[in-house]
Amino acid sequence: METLNIVCPHCQKVNSVVNEVEKRQVVCSACGKPLSDTTPVACDAEAFKTHISENEIPVIVDFYSPDCGPCMEMAPDYETAASTFGLEVRFLKVNTLNDADIALQYGVNELPTMIAFKNGMELNRFSSRLSKEQLKMWAESLIQMTL
Ligand SMILES: [Zn+2]
Repeated sequence: METLNIVCPHCQKVNSVVNEVEKRQVVCSACGKPLSDTTPVACDAEAFKTHISENEIPVIVDFYSPDCGPCMEMAPDYETAASTFGLEVRFLKVNTLNDADIALQYGVNELPTMIAFKNGMELNRFSSRLSKEQLKMWAESLIQMTL
C-alpha cells in the first residue's frame, strides 16, 4: 500500500499516511491533532530541518522578519493560500530575526524570500512579495512537479 510521510505541524512527529484514505480526517499518531491543519508552521531550526527533510509532500518556507513591511503585508495572503492546500503542500515560516543561521545557510539576503523544497531538495524560490493568486499558482505547480 502506498504511503506518504507527513510531518505533524503541531509536534513534528513523522506520520506515515496511506495515500488513499480521506486525508482531511487524518490525525497525528503522537498528539492527535489534525495533520491537515493549514496554519503556516512557525519553525525553529530543528522543526525546519524535520519538515524539509522528512515531508514527502512539497514544502514552502517563508523567510520573513516582523520588521519588514512587505513581509507583514504578505502574511495574510500566505495564510489564505496555505488554507487551500491541506495535506498537499506544507507551508512553513521562519522568523529570520530568531533564526538568522537558517537564512544564512540558504543564502537568503532579501525579504521576503520563499523557498520550495521536496525531499530536502530546493525546487525553486522567489525573493519578492507574491499575491495570493501567485502563491496558489506556485503551490499548484509544485504538486505537479515530480522529483
Ligand atoms: Zn503531532
